[in-house]
Amino acid sequence: MFNLSGISSSNAAPRHARVLILGAGPAGLSAALYAARAELQPIVLTGTQIGGQAALTHTIENYPGFPEGVGGAELGDLFQKQAERFGATVEFGSAHRVDLSARPFQIETDSGQYTADTLIIATGASPNHLNVPGEAELTGRGVSYCGTCDGWFFKDKKVVVVGGGDSALEEGIFLTRFASSVTIVHRRDTLRAGAILQKRARENPKIDFIWNTVVTEAVGQDKLTGVRLKNLQTGEERLFPTDGLFIFIGHTPNTQMFAGQLEMENGYIKVDERMRTSVAGVFAAGEAADPHFKQVVVSAGMGAAAAIEATRYLQEMAG
Ligand code: NAP
Repeated sequence: MFNLSGISSSNAAPRHARVLILGAGPAGLSAALYAARAELQPIVLTGTQIGGQAALTHTIENYPGFPEGVGGAELGDLFQKQAERFGATVEFGSAHRVDLSARPFQIETDSGQYTADTLIIATGASPNHLNVPGEAELTGRGVSYCGTCDGWFFKDKKVVVVGGGDSALEEGIFLTRFASSVTIVHRRDTLRAGAILQKRARENPKIDFIWNTVVTEAVGQDKLTGVRLKNLQTGEERLFPTDGLFIFIGHTPNTQMFAGQLEMENGYIKVDERMRTSVAGVFAAGEAADPHFKQVVVSAGMGAAAAIEATRYLQEMAG
């Protein structure tokens, strides 16, 4: 039995990796590709979603090399196959505790314990919630954070989309494939989303906008029947009947596990230009460490850079 300091022991001996990668989105799988090609036999722990958030996107139109666009899940699958071809191992499992003061690093997961000479954190981000009454109770019963996953359930139904960024417009446009109408509720009267998506959304006959307005309640017993809206300029409140409420109001990085062990800023892991964190041998990539860009291509690039740096670090350690 191996007792990890500060981490509860289990009967199984921990697995050791020269490079352990947390997360199997574009950042984690690109890191795996590069570490595998350096013959470091990386282990990738998938977390909850192979392919990361990108896999929940119906079509990705801005990843270079795919002029007609590529399915998000398909791209994740291609990333994984390419990394595995060179010797990466992708394992289902989520880390829930790490000790970065120990050498090797110690990682406890829902499926066992790992030790690692280098760690690449690519744990991504999770969608923010509105935190209004009814939202939690009606999630999966009309309230959703993923159009690609749940859009099909809203065939010929009315849906409301909250947010004014790229996600809200992209998913809103996607939802018009199924829904009879998509009402985008935004708290300001200016959209944050990029020009192409704005143009497409404004020209789509199934989409309309309600400006300067927030959702204050998700209404319904066993399923959503409406949302309560509040106009921020007039203060007027009203009940707006709808079958679906899709919420796209940004993301929070999945980094809580590293609090107190790594330097962070606004929840994002601080990295230098070489993806190095405040702990030598620990690197971070993708949305867990990227407050600025949040693009698949950027996350993939950060993952590749992190693996190159992890390789250099191991070479330096070996003298
Ligand atoms: P985002 O750009 O942060 O936009 C979030 C939107 O939600 C904003 O319009 C914001 O309003 C609104 N919002 C935030 N909190 C709210 C609240 N409590 N109540 C009501 N509204 C609220 O997030 P995102 O759209 O998920 O995009 C995240 C990043 O991914 C961005 O960098 C984006 O460019 C990128 N992305 C790119 C693509 C693409 O290239 N096709 C697709 C998806 C995402 P305000 O505008 O008033 O702040």
